[in-house]
Amino acid sequence: MPVTAVVGAQWGDEGKGHVVDFMASQAHMVIRFQGGDNAGHTVVNNHGKFALHLFPCGIFYPHVHNVLGTGMAINPQSFLEEMTMLNDAGLETPSSRLHISERAQVVMPYHVLIDGLEEEARGKHAQGTTKRGIGPCYTDKAARVGLRMGDLTDAGHLREYLRHVMDVKNRLLTRVYDHDPLCYDDVLEQALAWGKQLAPYIKNTHPLVQQALREDKTILLEGQLGALRDVNWGIYPYVTSSSPIAGGAATGAGVPPHRINNIIGVVKAYTTAVGEGPVPTELDGEMERTLREVGEEYGATTGRPRRCGWFDAVAVRYAAELCGFSSIAVTKIDVLDQLPTLKLCVAYDVDGTRYETVPDTRLMARAQPVYEEFPGWQASTTEARAWHDLPPNAQAYLERISELTGGLPISMVGVGPHRNDTLVVDGQHYEVA
Ligand code: GDP
Repeated sequence: MPVTAVVGAQWGDEGKGHVVDFMASQAHMVIRFQGGDNAGHTVVNNHGKFALHLFPCGIFYPHVHNVLGTGMAINPQSFLEEMTMLNDAGLETPSSRLHISERAQVVMPYHVLIDGLEEEARGKHAQGTTKRGIGPCYTDKAARVGLRMGDLTDAGHLREYLRHVMDVKNRLLTRVYDHDPLCYDDVLEQALAWGKQLAPYIKNTHPLVQQALREDKTILLEGQLGALRDVNWGIYPYVTSSSPIAGGAATGAGVPPHRINNIIGVVKAYTTAVGEGPVPTELDGEMERTLREVGEEYGATTGRPRRCGWFDAVAVRYAAELCGFSSIAVTKIDVLDQLPTLKLCVAYDVDGTRYETVPDTRLMARAQPVYEEFPGWQASTTEARAWHDLPPNAQAYLERISELTGGLPISMVGVGPHRNDTLVVDGQHYEVA
């Protein structure tokens, strides 16, 4: 499959890192198409365990070109720290195969500051942002006062443009938030230093991507977060400021939509969410604690405990409709191994009306899940490497998920966090390094 988008079908944290790290063995290029360091992909492979926030998950393979795409919001400091973390683990990050789009947005110090101030000012309407400056950065992109990565490498241009931008930002800081202004010279110095350090990596990625397309190379488009956090279709306003769905992959990576010929929706075998906003199947009490502890459901970026609940087929079907999944990859089935019974949400009840699709957020907030119950399998799946290795009840649970989400084939099943803990269902063979 030359161009495959790997996108989250729930609220994020579905295990996209696991899937991309697994599939990248056969890829020529991996392009992260949106988001910043406000979420992390945890990858466990023969090199160790890594929380990647900005780097595409193809970075573990010396043959893969990794692109931080135009749709991203990149904090240069975080990028440098992540690179050091990878280098310290013995991984190489040469500029010959690590490319930052010169058109990607820069997360600046004032974005981080404003993110915290805005969240505080929201009071009871707080959105649970990770305060990494991603929202304010995308706000500036839309308002056309953003800095792009290429700007960092052009000192003359940066000096002048940053002065204009910082005038605007300092007016906001002092007059709206009653905060001290930021010093232009300090911010400029920092930005110039980043530009120097990152210059080898910042480039016009368009020709690189187009050449790979012309040569029919295998390309993976890697999303962050999930469909329910999409700025257009998610549980607005509790969403991210970019578009993690398959359509966003085309714009963020600069790949024509018709060239994406495989779209994998990554779904966790149950539901988790970090941050605010409705999650109809959210549990509380003992069952939530069990899912959180067994699934180690703590945010990769903030360490925040994730909200946990049963699998929500309504939400995943909605994501499948929006994205046009070719198949789904179901991760973390092993987390359910010991449960005596499981539940699947097949519809919502909103004030007595049955919904089989995701309604607008104000109604979603009142949605009560309608469940089907399933017998558990109470056996370990972690050693399973083929469909027939799975216990019959696990097969039945997965088949029902497939049925409820529009009859989508299941292409992969995750039975543990490690790259090797992956079961390929459709017969496709992926070399595991
Ligand atoms: P992503 O952002 O979609 O990549 O997801 P995260 O990395 O935020 O969260 C997924 C978590 O589940 C990580 O800690 C992964 O190591 C872990 N994980 C991924 N797939 C599996 C799986 O099949 N089984 C288990 N037990 N853990 C998994």
